[in-house]
Amino acid sequence: MQVSDDASAALRKCVHCGFCLATCPTYQVLGDELDSPRGRLYLMKQVFEGKAPTATTQQHLDRCLTCRACETTCPSGVDYHVVLDAGRAAVDAQVERPLGVRFKRWVLRELLPQRAVFGAVVRLGRAFAWLLPGSLRRQLIAPVGAASAATVAAKAAPTVLLLQGCVQPALRPNINAATTRVLARLGFTAIEVPGAGCCGALRHHLDEHEDALDDARLVIDEWWPHIFAGAKAIVITASGCGAHVADYGRLLRDDPDYADKAQRVSELLTDLAELIEPEAARLFASAKAAPAQPIAFQSPCTLQHGLRVRGAVERVLEAAGYPLTPVSDAHLCCGSAGTYSILQPELSRRLRDDKLAALEAGKPAAIATANIGCQTHLASGTTTPVHHWIELLEQRLA
Ligand code: SF4
Ligand code: SF4
Repeated sequence: MQVSDDASAALRKCVHCGFCLATCPTYQVLGDELDSPRGRLYLMKQVFEGKAPTATTQQHLDRCLTCRACETTCPSGVDYHVVLDAGRAAVDAQVERPLGVRFKRWVLRELLPQRAVFGAVVRLGRAFAWLLPGSLRRQLIAPVGAASAATVAAKAAPTVLLLQGCVQPALRPNINAATTRVLARLGFTAIEVPGAGCCGALRHHLDEHEDALDDARLVIDEWWPHIFAGAKAIVITASGCGAHVADYGRLLRDDPDYADKAQRVSELLTDLAELIEPEAARLFASAKAAPAQPIAFQSPCTLQHGLRVRGAVERVLEAAGYPLTPVSDAHLCCGSAGTYSILQPELSRRLRDDKLAALEAGKPAAIATANIGCQTHLASGTTTPVHHWIELLEQRLA
């Protein structure tokens, strides 16, 4: 079977040491080698070598959260997600899922990236919230604070492109609004280009790779005039989308029309906390005087393992005066993982409950995160408020 060069190079790096087993959430819960990174790499190698995959092979790959904790742990630098992309595509081409599962995946990939349609569903859900189970109701709770993202600042200010995204504007519109206002305090004009919606991560994780590339091309087309005009950075408030956009350069490297542009977009991607951090002490000099409530920070996998941004959000929150409570096993996934919570509900719930126990052990007044998926997933299992950290930061500037 023909496998891409980067996937076979990544696969060859594995020396089967098994260090990754200790940090893999699915191996920790299920205890099956085939639900570990090493086991899945072994299964995919067999498929690449011509062995016919079965529904069981597919199940082991489906159970992977793509959390990439194994990449952080691996001493050989195996790019596990690159192999997984190729492995899932190879298996899906040979094994058809049951009709009900195919329908569920079709609904997810068609509904979630459509901002207008998903927004209407969310509004409907809120109108009839009293009919819904508590966990779903908590996911749909209307955000606190102003929802309009006023993209205003001095005309001469450097511009920053802010991805609007697909599900986030309907679920928590205040996240980008708060980001815009905080960036304005730092002297940036944040621009949300309305046509730049879904980055493609959703469809990519549902293994619709060609559709996901089209989503990426659309976003690049929408951003390109602003990049050409000198936009200084691209900021994405959902780390799940950020990790995917960081990969645009690789994903579109064989497209002659988009390879260079995609690479440029990936290079311009700047982590929001790292953008704020150099100015944080100045920004919060007065806020530090007033006491703030203790916060537990959940670092999403896409932030710590995908984007490899570690500690920046925590430092910014501390600069704003928030005491951070200790969180054990902070490297482990909360079980959200894109559409995983819908497609693998039992495993997902187990991981969520373990994560909430770790987050709430220090009795925080609120939980902070950096990804809309983790935010709504965690909120479904607790009455402790769950916010995006930028909203908490803005509260300290008020
Ligand atoms: S993926 Fe890395 S850590 Fe895991 S078995 Fe292979 S070399 Fe070892
Ligand atoms: S991506 Fe996460 S769930 Fe998948 S094999 Fe690696 S550590 Fe395990």
